[in-house]
Amino acid sequence: MRSNRGLHPAPQWVNRWARLGPSFYTPWQATPLPEATWVAWSNALATDLGWPSDWHEQPGMIDILAGNQPWPGSEPLASVYSGHQFGVWAGQLGDGRALWLGEISSPMGPQEIQLKGAGPTPYSRRADGRAVLRSSIREFLCSEAMHGLGIPTTRALALVASPQPVWRETAETAAVVTRVAPSFMRFGHFEHFASIDDLEALTRLLEFSRTELGLGQCPAAHPGLALLLEVTQRTAELMARWQAVGFCHGVMNTDNMSLLGLTLDYGPFQFMDAYDPGHICNHTDTQGRYAFARQPRVAHWNLHALGQALMALVDDADAILAVLQTFPDTFEQAWLTHIRGKLGLTLAEPDDLAQCQELFRWMAEEACDHTIFWRRLSHAVALWQGGLPSEQAFSPVSDLALQGPRMAAWLTWLRQRLNAEGRVDAGQRMLRINPKFVLRNHLAEQAIRASQSGSHAMVRDLLAVLQSPYDEHPDHEDWAGFPPDWAQHIEISCSS
Ligand code: AMP
Ligand code: MG
Repeated sequence: MRSNRGLHPAPQWVNRWARLGPSFYTPWQATPLPEATWVAWSNALATDLGWPSDWHEQPGMIDILAGNQPWPGSEPLASVYSGHQFGVWAGQLGDGRALWLGEISSPMGPQEIQLKGAGPTPYSRRADGRAVLRSSIREFLCSEAMHGLGIPTTRALALVASPQPVWRETAETAAVVTRVAPSFMRFGHFEHFASIDDLEALTRLLEFSRTELGLGQCPAAHPGLALLLEVTQRTAELMARWQAVGFCHGVMNTDNMSLLGLTLDYGPFQFMDAYDPGHICNHTDTQGRYAFARQPRVAHWNLHALGQALMALVDDADAILAVLQTFPDTFEQAWLTHIRGKLGLTLAEPDDLAQCQELFRWMAEEACDHTIFWRRLSHAVALWQGGLPSEQAFSPVSDLALQGPRMAAWLTWLRQRLNAEGRVDAGQRMLRINPKFVLRNHLAEQAIRASQSGSHAMVRDLLAVLQSPYDEHPDHEDWAGFPPDWAQHIEISCSS
């Protein structure tokens, strides 16, 4: 007989984290959320999970995703981790409001499911365990937007809201995001067991990363070194992608760093409007530790924290440091590869790095809008390759700069490089690499305001556009325009 709870057909639960044992978590239950209603859901993710198209309408689904009903087969728990926050050791942290429901089999491989904002856990440190609608809309949309951009990220399946008051700087209301990832493991999980000298747990975590997550398979003197090398490479690749698209994370604490190299824990993030390497998107980050241009160096610092934790097992500081030293080159190569792609180039030339650096120098001086510059450049190259005279083709790009001669010289270099490669499809390729739509702060803000007054249409429409950000979506041209003046005054902090 069909039970009225849970998804049909029922997913196959594997729950491997729950098998790690009690040192790794506390079994826990969600706190019920009154009067839960749907805000939005991602059918794209449900399809990737192999779920039926009516999944979100099935009886009881909203109760499960609001934390009001247990999901048969799940083994909810809150995991323990530690971490460095703003460069300072913060001691024990943990899933303070993210409840791990379990792990299901899917065509993408096993996927863990979390409810974020499902009430306090033993790791909530006197906080309420809730997430407000505002920050939940941002996390929900940005997770799917990053996936649409092709950037490794945790995903978001659903967003439900409740009128339940939640107090932040002012009274707000509660929401729960259902997040999905192959693993939510953080650098902080390793740091935790190293900090309490639990070598047995640390060894199990290393084994789990290798055998269950498939990380660190390359031959190395110690499995910990192989793991560190793979995490270093994945993190360098992620940083290159963030820098290429103009994404600032905002809180790159080690507890927010994914072992799999996924974008994780969306808080005060921002896609840059005007290009500014010193841009700080987190209002709470008064020192600018997590400023845009610092992200790769911070990631390297965070990898040192992971390396330090692994020292307890590897016991060879030189070998650990040698692995960590691969980061700058790996990052630079990955960054250059992505920027070349954005420029429509397929071959490497010796002066590429210098020319790319020159590009970003004048973009900063001109405060060029990051997304609009790249999209206009892509169209310009496509038109120019289609036969339009270069002056005409590139005029929308030139319009973005006051210092005409400097940009003109750089554009000449680019056209010469493109000519030398002789590939006539560069512009078309660029249009699939340089997005038309990113989740700018003011778009998220507009969607949040509408949802707070009861209309979720903009959240849903934005989701659809951001899931295919390289398409033109002519009905939403305004979402691809320059930000309004008020966007500069939006202040996003850690408060969520
Ligand atoms: P974050 O800065 O969001 O990555 O959070 C850092 C730590 O604080 C994590 O362990 C979170 O689980 C916890 N935390 C953040 N906000 C809350 C909250 N409202 N209730 C409980 N724990 C929280
Ligand atoms: Mg976090």
